Amino acid sequence: MTDIPGAFVDQLKEVLGAENVLTDPADCWPYGQDNSRKHHAPDAVAYATTHAQVLETVRLCNQDNVPLVARGRGTGTTGSAIPVRGGLVLSLERMDRIVGMDAANRVMRVEPGTINQAIQDEAAKHGYFWPPDPTSAGYCTVGGNIALNAAGPRALKYGTTRENVLGLVAVTGKGDEIHTGTYTTKGVVGYDLTRLIIGSEGTLAIVTEATLRLTPLPESRRTLQAVYASVRTAATAVARIMSQPITPCALEFVDAAAIEMIRNYSKATLPKGAGALLMVELDGSEAAMDAAVESVSIAARGDGLLNLAAARTREEAAELWATRKALSPALRNIAPNKLNEDVVVPVSRIPELIEGLENLSREYRIPIVNFGHAGNGNIHVNLLYDTQNPEQEKNARPCLSRVFDLVLALGGTLSGEHGIGVEKRDYINRAIDPVTLELMRAIKRQFDPKGLLNPDKVFPPAQA
Ligand SMILES: Cc1cc2nc3c(=O)[nH]c(=O)nc-3n(C[C@H](O)[C@H](O)[C@H](O)COP(=O)(O)OP(=O)(O)OC[C@H]3O[C@@H](n4cnc5c(N)ncnc54)[C@H](O)[C@@H]3O)c2cc1C
Repeated sequence: MTDIPGAFVDQLKEVLGAENVLTDPADCWPYGQDNSRKHHAPDAVAYATTHAQVLETVRLCNQDNVPLVARGRGTGTTGSAIPVRGGLVLSLERMDRIVGMDAANRVMRVEPGTINQAIQDEAAKHGYFWPPDPTSAGYCTVGGNIALNAAGPRALKYGTTRENVLGLVAVTGKGDEIHTGTYTTKGVVGYDLTRLIIGSEGTLAIVTEATLRLTPLPESRRTLQAVYASVRTAATAVARIMSQPITPCALEFVDAAAIEMIRNYSKATLPKGAGALLMVELDGSEAAMDAAVESVSIAARGDGLLNLAAARTREEAAELWATRKALSPALRNIAPNKLNEDVVVPVSRIPELIEGLENLSREYRIPIVNFGHAGNGNIHVNLLYDTQNPEQEKNARPCLSRVFDLVLALGGTLSGEHGIGVEKRDYINRAIDPVTLELMRAIKRQFDPKGLLNPDKVFPPAQA
């Protein structure tokens, strides 16, 4: 059953080809979900392969008032790709060409459906990489990376998607073609619409091409694992590591609850009394590596350190990382239902965050497991609850609300890399003041006067 006009579907088929427009509910169903596990089926799904088709599709949606959601590969975790009002899902997955590789200028131009890993593979042929490294790199698109300002461990040294995109070609919600940013690494000409569109969750414009800033591949990498007696001593070490002159390319944190899970669900060996664990990765020239390891090791040593291990070979590094990587499968085993947040606090306040989370866990009787990108203060907070347990089911959301209050009180923010989507839109008022929020809504209206592009995301519906 479709709620969109038949004439609209006919015109869409003319633009995209009949074989590229789906209206059968069974075909549309998979395009109603993402990794948030929420679902709302669209009325139609269309595949674009050119910028001109995207432009024409947005214009048709405006003409017939059809809600429109751009989609990469649906790996987002906050429901941002779910067509909550039905309408049309425009899949960009077939717009996956690498448009240009300019090694001399460290620039690559790509279409939005290009998979992150395909970008890394192409860049590597020329001695480069593109820094955003979400764990989902093998199956998420650069369009999704841009819309959610995706990142990963490497953001600590190399920045997030925002710092690694020079310019965009996009189609606004109104149906206008725009060109933002520069081809150069410097430029101050007009407002920075590139940074505005990055992280806007597909609510302002549909990206049809991106100019990416590449970075030379490091010659060498080294990994260290440091185990501490407590979160406080580990967090103090994070501050020490971040204030010595070598910036790690990753500085990951795992708390005591997560260590306990790793112990129970993997073969990783960790010293008794471990209260927190840090994984540190360094990269750079081979000649500089020993001195870099020494500098970070000196910073890592101190009160509460139980064990410091440095890998010299790839195999040893893989073994050290196995502890951190055991977490996701362990989490899946222990708690089928979890609220997985990616809050950020200033690095120096991580101990207060973890202490506060332990208190909330006790108060609401919900196990909370924390790990993440300590160097950025970006901690993945996992509320593990069982829907079959009525007390936990009742307490999970109120506990989450208190988690957000805690994060904001510590000078932090609600999301470091996953975005707001539908999952966190009801909390945005707590993070952003009313005047600033109104300016954001006015910007949205300017890009998308009819409010058709990814409606009801980021802001609560009444405020959009
Ligand atoms: C196992 C797993 C691990 C993950 N690890 C990480 C991680 O380490 N770091 C991290 O940051 N994220 C991570 N994610 C989240 C997710 O993979 C990223 O946010 C990714 O960027 C989403 O890309 P996608 O192509 O799947 O986008 P989708 O989920 O399809 O869409 C996400 C948003 O982008 C919009 N969008 C898509 N294409 C366009 C376009 N061309 N123009 C405008 N808007 C568009 C959509 O409307 C939607 O709002 C992980 C997800 C999974 C499942």
